[in-house]
Amino acid sequence: AKRIVVKVGTSTLIHPNGKVNFHAIDQLCYVLTGLVNDGKQVVLVSSGAIGVGMGQVGLHERPESIPAQQALAAIGQSGLMSVYQQRFSLYGQRIGQILLTHDVLEYPLSRQNALNTFNSLLEWGVIPIVNENDTVAVDEMDHHTKFGDNDQLSAIVSSIVDADLLVMLSDIDGFFDKNPRKYSDAKLFERITKIDETALEAAGGKGSKFGTGGMMTKLKAAQRMLENDKMMILANGQDPAIIFDLVKGEPLGTLFV
Ligand code: ADP
Repeated sequence: AKRIVVKVGTSTLIHPNGKVNFHAIDQLCYVLTGLVNDGKQVVLVSSGAIGVGMGQVGLHERPESIPAQQALAAIGQSGLMSVYQQRFSLYGQRIGQILLTHDVLEYPLSRQNALNTFNSLLEWGVIPIVNENDTVAVDEMDHHTKFGDNDQLSAIVSSIVDADLLVMLSDIDGFFDKNPRKYSDAKLFERITKIDETALEAAGGKGSKFGTGGMMTKLKAAQRMLENDKMMILANGQDPAIIFDLVKGEPLGTLFV
């Protein structure tokens, strides 16, 4: 795989107590730099802005108000980028920030402009760090202004840059036949070739009795990848060094192919 998109969730970047997980971020920066030095073109889609913002402001709970969440995203986004900037520079890796809006889905010209930016950065060996522009994109439900979530954003970014592989890091080992946090006998799917009723049900959709968690949005992202004949791997980001093994083709987590 030459172009790789890596998506990290808040659970990988922020400790449950709200503190930034510097160790995980450091590992991530080390690994992604390694991939670039290995000749890969790497894009990072990073969540965590609101979480970092909450830490900076001293909030322990996510506020209900959307403008307050936007303000926290604005505070946290620059905080998050400065952590990335600092850690990546330790390894001599340059980064660039890309904040996208739904425009890239609506307008071919916006999509082309975004692609041009990605292409220049990637050709220069720079890692673009992508997030949604929360200042102008509001309301999780309103799909006219919002991507929905960073899982789907990462699949959309993969399709814009025509990535061969999307690596999605979460707080769980992969996609199971039911939520492993509720059912200790849950079994890991090693390979999924299509997102059918069984898969949707395991993720907690379609009249299932299982909890929803965050699997539904991950399956939607996988679906987008499969439609474009591209691969996605869902794996545990607790130790981001796992990316080295995943890219080598080791069967860890769930491979959607
Ligand atoms: P992230 O913040 O990394 O994006 P989420 O919390 O959104 O992660 O999604 C991962 C969570 O989805 C898991 O921790 C688990 O509780 C839940 N989940 C629900 N159903 C499943 C399933 N079938 N397989 C794996 N995880 C599941």
